[in-house]
Amino acid sequence: MGSVLVFIDVPSLPLPRAARELLAIAASIGDPVVASPRPLSEETAAELGRHGVVELYEPAQPLPDVLVAAKAAFLAEAVRAAGPVAVLLGNSFEDREVAARTGIKLGSGVITDAVAVAPDLSVTKSVLAGSFTSTCRVETGVPIITIKANSVEPAPAGENAAPVRSLVTVPETGPAATVTGRSEKRVSGRPELSEARVIVAGGRGVDGDFGPLEELADLLGGAVGASRAATDAGWIEHSAQVGQTGKTVSPQLYISAGISGAIQQKAGMQTAKVIVAINKDSDAPVFEIADFGVVGDLFSVLPQAAEEIRRRRA
Ligand SMILES: Cc1cc2nc3c(=O)[nH]c(=O)nc-3n(C[C@H](O)[C@H](O)[C@H](O)COP(=O)(O)OP(=O)(O)OC[C@H]3O[C@@H](n4cnc5c(N)ncnc54)[C@H](O)[C@@H]3O)c2cc1C
Repeated sequence: MGSVLVFIDVPSLPLPRAARELLAIAASIGDPVVASPRPLSEETAAELGRHGVVELYEPAQPLPDVLVAAKAAFLAEAVRAAGPVAVLLGNSFEDREVAARTGIKLGSGVITDAVAVAPDLSVTKSVLAGSFTSTCRVETGVPIITIKANSVEPAPAGENAAPVRSLVTVPETGPAATVTGRSEKRVSGRPELSEARVIVAGGRGVDGDFGPLEELADLLGGAVGASRAATDAGWIEHSAQVGQTGKTVSPQLYISAGISGAIQQKAGMQTAKVIVAINKDSDAPVFEIADFGVVGDLFSVLPQAAEEIRRRRA
């Protein structure tokens, strides 16, 4: 097999787990090479090398405000330069947009929401809100595949040499959009929702108080998610919404507290490996998909869980 080009947009170390997962999948197919839309430091390049990356493509000139259109133009040129057998990206909104735009530029098929890629480039993806898995394959051009986080175990870093670095000249993308301002995203110190291995999510039942959920999430090193009822009420930011019109998540553990389990909520979380539901109502639909259920008041159950974790760790 030839090279597999991984699009990684990581301004600084440490390498996020999602990036290391993409590299592990690339290495299972061929030689991992990376396209980075920003010039990387020697340290970051060396870290990519330790994760098996043999070649690194960067733009010859800084991209204008690193817009999605410019990232796609760069990635298309990197694909032309590297001639890979496949291109892998993450599955965030932005990565999927980069994939789509690159697919159009190269006349290549794009598969999103993948959870596995076999060495013969057949792709497994979850469809219909995670109710089914399907196997598919790109028939036209270089396959461009976006892969959900938490799909594989990332490989540990080795002793490999730093990758060979190549510069790619990116054609002008035109004035599609101009960035007029930027504001810092509030940093919680918790993992990104769609990459988190543990999520503690709350709904209308939290009644405006996410405190007990945040406490448990922090003890478990997890992220805090929410139902639409909770985000619409303004109790937590919209980026925390899980579901059909929010984020699709696949953590190892999803703790659902005070969420009824409407179909639109399930659509975003039912592929979680283990689902624990806490609800006062024993007939709540969330119990239909829960692996473990607690019928009770979340304000009593969550602090007890947190206390027990602390006690066992002590
Ligand atoms: C087009 C469309 C898209 C949508 N997209 C989404 C989406 O992306 N994500 C999403 O979540 N929803 C989405 N919805 C909304 C969805 O249909 C539900 O209305 C929503 O999920 C309900 O949120 P909830 O479970 O928090 O609230 P409720 O359905 O009101 O449930 C609250 C639950 O909390 C329990 N409870 C109350 N107090 C406590 C307590 N102290 N302890 C324990 N349990 C308690 C109750 O028994 C109840 O089961 C969408 C709807 C539409 C029409």
